[in-house]
Amino acid sequence: MGFNTKFIFITGGVLSSLGKGLASAAIGALLESRGLTVTIQKLDPYINVDPGTMNPFQHGEVFVTDDGSETDLDLGHYERFTNAKLGSNNNFTTGKIYHSVISKERRGDYLGGTVQVIPHITDEIKDSIMLHADTVDVVIVEIGGTIGDIESLPFLEAIRQFRADQKKEDVLYIHLTLVPYIATAGEVKTKPTQHSVKELRSIGIQPDILLCRTDRFLSKDIKKKIALFCDVGVDAVITAKDVEHIYEVPLVFHKEGLDDKIVELLNIWARAPRLEPWEELLEKLQHPQHAVNIGIVGKYVNLTESYKSLNEALCHGGIPNNCKVNLLFIDADKIGETNCNKVLADVHGVLVPGGFGQRGTDGKILAAKYARENNIPYFGICLGMQIAVVEFARNIAGIAGAHSSEFDKKTPHPVIYLMREWYDDKTGTMQKRDIHSEKGGSMRLGAYPCRIQPDTLAYKAYQTDEISERHRHRYEFNNEYKMKLEQSGLTFSGISPNGELIEIIEIKNHPWFLGCQFHPEFKSRPMAPHPLFRDFIRASLEYSKKDQ
Ligand code: GLN
Repeated sequence: MGFNTKFIFITGGVLSSLGKGLASAAIGALLESRGLTVTIQKLDPYINVDPGTMNPFQHGEVFVTDDGSETDLDLGHYERFTNAKLGSNNNFTTGKIYHSVISKERRGDYLGGTVQVIPHITDEIKDSIMLHADTVDVVIVEIGGTIGDIESLPFLEAIRQFRADQKKEDVLYIHLTLVPYIATAGEVKTKPTQHSVKELRSIGIQPDILLCRTDRFLSKDIKKKIALFCDVGVDAVITAKDVEHIYEVPLVFHKEGLDDKIVELLNIWARAPRLEPWEELLEKLQHPQHAVNIGIVGKYVNLTESYKSLNEALCHGGIPNNCKVNLLFIDADKIGETNCNKVLADVHGVLVPGGFGQRGTDGKILAAKYARENNIPYFGICLGMQIAVVEFARNIAGIAGAHSSEFDKKTPHPVIYLMREWYDDKTGTMQKRDIHSEKGGSMRLGAYPCRIQPDTLAYKAYQTDEISERHRHRYEFNNEYKMKLEQSGLTFSGISPNGELIEIIEIKNHPWFLGCQFHPEFKSRPMAPHPLFRDFIRASLEYSKKDQ
């Protein structure tokens, strides 16, 4: 076919949650550290066309890419670990594949043929993988789900065929399994791995490398046993040991010889890895000098998966401040008029994250008020900015009954509302949005430019006057109230280039109170912490010192 791209397929066995997404991201990081370019793609077996409509309780966070795709949260790991630029071509679901095949069938593209899983669905899957051919040195493809699920079969069949279509040395299969330690027997057990590989082989895939998730380094004998039963080289049995910090994973994999094995099997000539940045990062994470408690006042508080990127961005914000960031998840529903001081007693910074739906709104407004009145740093993200605007309008600007029309359709003062028509700077077209817009189809999604006003907290953080950040919301600030709120002391420190959309607000005479309409957490990286998170943590650290 005439391209030089290599492909690595990563499957998972035994059970879910073994960290396949992180493993894929860490492999990407290792290959980049050897001077190779990579991209990472996730193939998800579920039928939703994308995770945009999925409940974060069930599926975790929806990660948004620059191009406005709503994707699986694993893409967040991929972006945080590598320099890959991800977009809609990096996440395919069964739903998206079928959607495309069925559209082609309706258009008559199959010329009257019977449309079948093999070859039509499997071809569509292979085509989606091939979209990345020739764009990078190595394409890493993570297959969602666990071997044995019926949903993932077409994907596995497609990747099986893939090696037959290409040169053998261009394709590599890596399988992640579990090697549990059984306390009563006093040893690790290899049987689940043997069974999982047997299952994989029964559908025609012989793994080349096994990543064995376990709580201890595997002895040579255990590795030999696994190698023998699973028909891989002993040096292709890699211990994927539990770690304290996720950013340790590339280093552990490297110590186990994973990147050497990958480049050997794929016959790639690559330089020795440069892992100093990862080592330095880990050193900083392991030895912080300070600690702060950040209260995250939200709805999905019992499931940290829902705020994956946020949690990571907060951790990144601690790094340049030499500071460990403790996350206190606070259920907004538990906050009432009289208990704010108790619920938020140990908190050095309040963060109200993005969210949808009515539940917890009053508690979030009270938390914003408490932070404002007590000079506690406040960071409002998307919904958190809207909440801050509502609170300010009601309690400072004296606009009684001010609310977001998302939560009170009949509010006399919709300071946050559905903008019916707006000029999209990105596409140069007018966009329409109203109450009847299709759910999932009417959001402002992806990267938008924003101008930063001088002499503001935002400018202090970004040190530049034009930025680009990612959005995922329907509601906007209502410009009818701009003048009144400005007169009352609200600063509009980030505005779209055409002046129409308010993107950042802040309050003067407060150590650090800022709300942004976008989601900065999606762009934070461990090696390049997001400036707003960095400054929020710095302000929280200062507050914590005052506290003592
Ligand atoms: N529900 C709000 C909106 O749609 C905020 C969304 C969010 O926080 N991501 O505008």
